[in-house]
Amino acid sequence: MDYKSHARRKTGGLGLPEKTRKEVASKSSGGMEIILSSLENTQDLQTTLNILAILNELLTVGGGCRTGVFVSKGGTALLLQLLVGSSKDPPANEELMLHIHSLLVKVGLKDRKLGVKARLNGALNVTLNLVKYNLQNHKLLLPCLQVLRVYSSNLVNAVSLGKSGTLEIMFEIIGPFSKKSTTLLKVALDTLASLLKSGMNARRAVDRGYLPTLLTIYQDWHRNDTRHRHVVIRKSILGCIKNLTNIKLGRKAFIDANGMRILYNTSTECLPVRTLDPLVNTSSLIMRKCFPKNRLPLPTIKSVFHHPLLHIPASGPVAKLYNQPPGVDDVVDESDENEATEVDTENDTEYDEDETGPKTQNDDIETDINKLRPIQMNTRPFDELRAYEYFFREFSENFEDDDFESPRSVIPPSSVNSELHRPIIIPTTPSSLGPQNRRPPQEDLLTPKPDESPLELDSISISKRPEGTSDPDLVCSLGRLVLDAGVNGGSVDGPQDEGGEQAVLEVPDTAALLPLHDPDLYLEMVKSTRSVPAYTEVGYPDYFGHVALNLREPILERVYGVQRTKIFQDIERLIHPSDILDKVVYDLDNQSCPVTDNGESLKFNSKFESGNLRKAIQVRKFEYDLILNSDINSNHYHQWFYFEVGNMRPGVRYRFNIINCEKSNSQFNYGMQVLMYSVQDAINGSPHWVRTGSDICYYKNHFSRSSIAAGGQKGKSYFTLTFTVTFQHKDDVCYFAYHYPYTYSMLKMHLQKLSALRTAQIYYRQDDLCETLGGNSCPLLTITAMPGSSSNDPISQFRSRPVVFLSARVHPGETNSSWVMKGTLEYLMSCSPQAQSLRESYIFKIIPMLNPDGVINGNHRCSLSGEDLNRQWQNPNAELHPTIYHAKSLLQYLRATGRTPLVFCDYHGHSRKKNVFMYGCSIKETVWQTNVNTSTCDLHEDLGYRTLPKLLSQMAPAFSLSSCSFVVERSKEATARVVVWREIGVQRSYTMESTLCGCDQGKYKGLQIGTSELEEMGAQFCLALLRLKRFTSPLELHNHNSHLLDMETDLIETRSIPNITSPTTYVLEEDEPAFLEEVDYSAESNDEIDPDLEHDLQDNHAPQTPILTQSSAAKTHLTEIEPDSF
Ligand SMILES: [Zn+2]
Repeated sequence: MDYKSHARRKTGGLGLPEKTRKEVASKSSGGMEIILSSLENTQDLQTTLNILAILNELLTVGGGCRTGVFVSKGGTALLLQLLVGSSKDPPANEELMLHIHSLLVKVGLKDRKLGVKARLNGALNVTLNLVKYNLQNHKLLLPCLQVLRVYSSNLVNAVSLGKSGTLEIMFEIIGPFSKKSTTLLKVALDTLASLLKSGMNARRAVDRGYLPTLLTIYQDWHRNDTRHRHVVIRKSILGCIKNLTNIKLGRKAFIDANGMRILYNTSTECLPVRTLDPLVNTSSLIMRKCFPKNRLPLPTIKSVFHHPLLHIPASGPVAKLYNQPPGVDDVVDESDENEATEVDTENDTEYDEDETGPKTQNDDIETDINKLRPIQMNTRPFDELRAYEYFFREFSENFEDDDFESPRSVIPPSSVNSELHRPIIIPTTPSSLGPQNRRPPQEDLLTPKPDESPLELDSISISKRPEGTSDPDLVCSLGRLVLDAGVNGGSVDGPQDEGGEQAVLEVPDTAALLPLHDPDLYLEMVKSTRSVPAYTEVGYPDYFGHVALNLREPILERVYGVQRTKIFQDIERLIHPSDILDKVVYDLDNQSCPVTDNGESLKFNSKFESGNLRKAIQVRKFEYDLILNSDINSNHYHQWFYFEVGNMRPGVRYRFNIINCEKSNSQFNYGMQVLMYSVQDAINGSPHWVRTGSDICYYKNHFSRSSIAAGGQKGKSYFTLTFTVTFQHKDDVCYFAYHYPYTYSMLKMHLQKLSALRTAQIYYRQDDLCETLGGNSCPLLTITAMPGSSSNDPISQFRSRPVVFLSARVHPGETNSSWVMKGTLEYLMSCSPQAQSLRESYIFKIIPMLNPDGVINGNHRCSLSGEDLNRQWQNPNAELHPTIYHAKSLLQYLRATGRTPLVFCDYHGHSRKKNVFMYGCSIKETVWQTNVNTSTCDLHEDLGYRTLPKLLSQMAPAFSLSSCSFVVERSKEATARVVVWREIGVQRSYTMESTLCGCDQGKYKGLQIGTSELEEMGAQFCLALLRLKRFTSPLELHNHNSHLLDMETDLIETRSIPNITSPTTYVLEEDEPAFLEEVDYSAESNDEIDPDLEHDLQDNHAPQTPILTQSSAAKTHLTEIEPDSF
């Protein structure tokens, strides 16, 4: 065989027969130990050389396995001692040095600690000196350089080698383009790149002017390597530049040396050749990093709407916001660079980053066993809770005959007040009205009027049609259409006979398509909805309604190169500044904007319930930068958007960039599309929200984020969500949203419609739990079955039904949770036998919208108090968090009266995971995760909390059991789920998370989720509760068929397994596969942990960022902490 003869030649005739080699080296024979021992003990140079030659041969042909044995037997240290020892007696024997370094190169592949061992043995400088004095002796230089490369991968070594002049030596080796010694050159470049990971070395290199040198060398290779034989070398040069630009000085030197243009031009020339992608990708990464940071074009990052709080929390982000001195620029910091990341860390990074240690334990897991045990005491005196009796009137009702025959109609106060007599509001859009009507009537948007009654919407004079005749026909039609709807409601006077030559368009009969929808009723509901900006307009989609699409909307396949293309377009803003329009076309901060012109700009609007868009800037003819508004009383949480676009040209590709996103990754990188609603399509009978947009990607941009907005961290950037849309119709009005909108007014409308579905069998009651900060009511529903009769037995059965407590939409941006809740409510009100059986089984207490104010005002995360209401359950404040305070009181009342709910579930949406899944609470599973010794495992815990998720996984196609987790985290201790579990004692206390994107398993695998799937989920949840009943009432269990018994066994079998090591995976990482275009921004800023957005440590892990070419193999890392979930 060839390798044998090759090895024999190489070792100068010392070749051994393969059999002997095997014997000598085999682990059992201890042959390696014998060799090493001989090496250690011999004083004779020739013997040493012979032994080294044998070792070299053994490790060459024996592969990693033998090298492993060599390392494990202490060979590394022996070699290093030999190296240092022989260097004390110069001149060193060249053959000896050659042998030792050749061996060390092999050892370096196996021994991760070689760098550290070399430093501790004092070997670094021995090798360095050999390099220094043998620059022309390539035979010796190459192995020495290879060893140096291994040494440099350790950061401490890199600093030390840098001080000894290694950078300068590398630059002596790296000359101009030459086809000779490319191997050597590659090793030198890689060594240099490693060295430049140290900030100290990088500064030294910048000071010596090496950055322009590297750029020149790169251009030299780019020009001369015409046949692309040396892409690896070109990539290594870029690798050096990339590490140099990790420091601020390096980025400045790069800009000064015209690096942007150089890399832009070379990349553009590389683009057509696919094999040069690594060069393009690394170049774009460098350019991205060096792109000068921009200021977000805003006067302040505080919400444009203000709602003064009567009571400002003593500490926390809201207090900070209020204590911010006037005049402080909160948009950008004086110094926007994070120098802290540039300080050399002398004591960490001892080993290569791929040193495999135990996986870092998530320190968010609760380890305090006492915090995992239920709280035994009632924390409030019952007298305080007595007032809540009112909300449980069903327990004291006697159901006298008349009541019994026609269920008591409890019409919510919010819908029966005097407003019924007010004229019907007309939905308006900018394009349907003359400009004078576009603004709210002399109301300053920034001035809150919390104590006023809702704005008299009907006081606005509405022109039926746009002024002038230049407006396109359809827009006229739209205007009239809406008016017609209003006229049908009998509210608007004025001539109705205009626009005669146009075909009369009809309001789509959404009431027929959508049983729970009624445009007129919707408008009625809007009138009693109080918004901080005092909205006077209504979004068309909310008015017309949305009918779920029948067609399947697949998860979008990510096109390779999209991100790169978008980034290049962004870089072109810098390269070709004259192309940039920078025209502000919509601006909530500036009342005189938008300026009405008949130009080519799109028209934007977001001044309607749940709307969110703060500013739109036309960047190029068909490209717009969009800025989202912060949650009220906050300066961040930008994610939810909902806005209207008009004046579009059909058939043109418009690029939209939402430029102030905050999360470090998004399902928009994994196939999720934005939602669009075309009013023209709605009029033409297709009132649908449709997944739309191409070229979608999400990446870090060049707009800096101030430390005020980033929880004190400097040097962070915002992220861009970009999507491209081609409009189908001329003069359409289209709406875009993050997810299917579901407004508070829509909820009220649905509840009215649902209450009308009552039958004699259904007990349905709607109460107002409380008034919110914004003056809206928070509905509380009670749904169950009427007692069979008013005689004693049925009434006592009625009163003994277990309570199921459900809530949703504490986070306004998670509109999917409202659609799931709608499915649940519709099911509960349906007339199927199962629904009746379900109602007979339980009393449902439901708060369908825990945060109406946030929903109304277009917030993403918070209530009007600027706080995340799902972090207030431990100690809710009656004034600041009324809905949580009273919801918790209801639960406390239930507990105090011995009616602790059987199930509590809070519906949420998850923006970074697929499928629907649950989080629950288990003391055992939490303890197991912390690897605390097993003595804690004698904890008694009923595994009943697993039953409902398991049932759901069997019944609901979107539900995924493997995504569920029952681990209690510290950062979640104030969430509904954990508090209800610990304080109220509800064992089955859950958060149910629905994806905003789609499913990667089950029937909907590969599809984006739609409202019908979400509603189905809500209905399946009900069915699962019905099945759960079999497992929670032992008497019934015996009466049921074997099928159910089998399932019971199946469900319970986990109980019989004493050691469930990891019953559910506690997922520390995003469950998304990597995609090719991963971009490393980790060096740019320490962007990984945001204390202010600490909520979701679950997905957090430390950054370990591979460079671009390896990224296809690398796991996508998502390091930001997501405030999204739970
Ligand atoms: Zn949530």
